[in-house]
Amino acid sequence: MDERRWWLMPVEYVKGVGPRRAQLLREEVSVFTAGDLLMYFPYRHLDRTRIDLAATLQEGQPFAQLRGRISDIRLVERGPHRRLSATLTDHTGSVELTWFQGIRYIRKSLIAGAEYLVFGRLMKLGRHFSIAHPEMERISGGTESRRVGLVPLYTTTEKMKKAGLDSRAIEDIMRQLMENIPFTFSETLSEDILSEYKLCSRHHALCQIHFPSSEAELKKALFRLKFEELFFLRLQLLQLNLGRKRENPGLEVPRTNRLVKEFYQHHLPFPLTGAQIRVLREIREDMASGRQMSRLLQGDVGSGKTIVALLSMLSVVDAGFQAAMMAPTEILAQQHYYAISDYLKPLRVPVALLTGSTPRNQRQDILTSLRDGRLPIVVGTHALLEEDVKFRNLALAVIDEQHRFGVAQRGKMWQKNVVPPHVLIMTATPIPRTLALTIYGDLDVSVLDELPPGRKPVITRLLLPSQHSQLLHLVQGELAKGRQVYWVFPLIEESEKLDYTPLLKGYEQVKKSFPQWSVEMLHGRMNQAEKEQAMQRFARGEAQILVATTVIEVGVNVPNASVMVIEHAERFGLAQLHQLRGRVGRGAEQSYCILLASPNISAEGRARLQVMVSTQDGFRIAEEDLRLRGAGDLEGTRQSGNMRFRLADLSKDVHVLQQADRAARQVLEGDPFLVSPLHEPIKSTLNSLKKSESFWRQIA
Ligand code: ADP
Ligand code: MG
Repeated sequence: MDERRWWLMPVEYVKGVGPRRAQLLREEVSVFTAGDLLMYFPYRHLDRTRIDLAATLQEGQPFAQLRGRISDIRLVERGPHRRLSATLTDHTGSVELTWFQGIRYIRKSLIAGAEYLVFGRLMKLGRHFSIAHPEMERISGGTESRRVGLVPLYTTTEKMKKAGLDSRAIEDIMRQLMENIPFTFSETLSEDILSEYKLCSRHHALCQIHFPSSEAELKKALFRLKFEELFFLRLQLLQLNLGRKRENPGLEVPRTNRLVKEFYQHHLPFPLTGAQIRVLREIREDMASGRQMSRLLQGDVGSGKTIVALLSMLSVVDAGFQAAMMAPTEILAQQHYYAISDYLKPLRVPVALLTGSTPRNQRQDILTSLRDGRLPIVVGTHALLEEDVKFRNLALAVIDEQHRFGVAQRGKMWQKNVVPPHVLIMTATPIPRTLALTIYGDLDVSVLDELPPGRKPVITRLLLPSQHSQLLHLVQGELAKGRQVYWVFPLIEESEKLDYTPLLKGYEQVKKSFPQWSVEMLHGRMNQAEKEQAMQRFARGEAQILVATTVIEVGVNVPNASVMVIEHAERFGLAQLHQLRGRVGRGAEQSYCILLASPNISAEGRARLQVMVSTQDGFRIAEEDLRLRGAGDLEGTRQSGNMRFRLADLSKDVHVLQQADRAARQVLEGDPFLVSPLHEPIKSTLNSLKKSESFWRQIA
């Protein structure tokens, strides 16, 4: 049988499987073919390389494996409890073996005086070591057991176990499978990559991952297979990027510069940071290149993305095109709108705000002037994506806080023009490098890695309810200095209904604690006008305290606010806390972030919050978040489609990803269409991967 046919052979024809087990494998773990079975990797291995001696067993040692003879098989009855016991003796001493279930069967099968290899969890009862329900294997004629070594453990479901298809059974089937493979698995990577990255062959890796001959070989196999997984992902994303650049000509935005210059010379409110200047150059070069820009702008909270967006939009308008800026919430869209229309006033460049609550006739006007090109800049929410919003010549779409938008929405924006507009995605949620490479891997990336000068770090403290008076004291002091305070409460989600009680109660409590100050409330259930009013009153300084849910999380800018209080801080993700903290420390004053923990907070929860206290570096927080929660759970990744890898773990395999990325770049740099015979294995693997839809659905 050739390799391709073997790979697709229905699993029931694998020796030791048969129709009944095949059905279980299909239904319970989606293993349909011999290939699927081979790719059903163990989740870990049990180290059974060592044979312990009875005399040298250590207390606290989790497992033990001994070799010896069985004697003294006896039934012990104590009241209603029965157990079967036997003694295993090697040349140094003995341990007790016990069984509480299946007694009759086991008693019949044990042979006193015979030699066994015994493995199991070690317990100490009184002075004696014992192993309950050990795995037993009879050794006869001095033959070495196959099960001495690194034993694979496979995931099985309850249903499989009940039918006898446990890890051990899968191991046996797998052994059969591996022993009967009539060929060498073909290679998917090219010779040069194998040697440069010191990768073992695919055949070796696939054998060793199930039945490794040593810990070192297992490591090599894992590295090779993770590398392969990530290499093909990167290769595909890089190809997507290159392909888009080749195929989408993109509108040429020449650097004519009238408005940009005027703004720059006369109306710029502050000197740009070095990072802002660098990023602007990257964006403008991209847009002038004649190819479509798809760029991700990563900049921590407060790094000054808005002005970068504004100047990018101005260069587009300079060239006679239109620009749109999309934000995830009404509040944010409004805020951008106010900031941008302020900036633009002296230049006499019109700008409009388009959201779900824009009045009908106003909306009509905006749509008309977008269509005939009189309106050069529009700011809005996803209302911009609606069918009837058409542009005369949209050249740039800025998407703020991308993690709230799905990939599909990104695509919709591209269809707003015959030639797809340039796309600038801005995110304030710093993304660990691994995720940037995998989720946004088809984009070019710019990083604002410098904060505007004069920012004082926000003093962050973790307080328990018993320290409440400290909090009141601090808030009182800041209010007296004329500063403002955010006070955030979590929303509690109960069976799809959001519970606003903590917020409402908190609001009353805060009002009572600070009777001489004006307190506003802001939450998602208020209507648009109410929200706007509350926000405006706070922004204008008419209210000193804003009690809110996380609607204020992203982007809101009130520089006079100097305290952020977060109740039940343990209920928020690190990325969210980082965003919330970013609402303060925007002025020249010293700011504070107070994390209030519940009295019964776990040690782990406390450690998580401690990360916030110890650093303000959004990238470090993001890395930590990823490490603590794993990739699947990270905010911002959920909508992006689940990144599921068979082996690779984005929170741990950074170094593998980096090497795989480098290799993929090397390959495409020298041979973008993979025409070299050297790259034949890569090309054909890529083709078959593209055919197996399930894989690509994850990244498309
Ligand atoms: P974000 O990147 O979080 O969107 P913003 O664009 O809202 O940040 O900027 C945060 C604050 O910093 C704003 O008040 C803005 O006016 C100010 N700012 C931006 N760039 C600079 C700069 N180069 N120098 C001083 N202040 C700046
Ligand atoms: Mg912003």
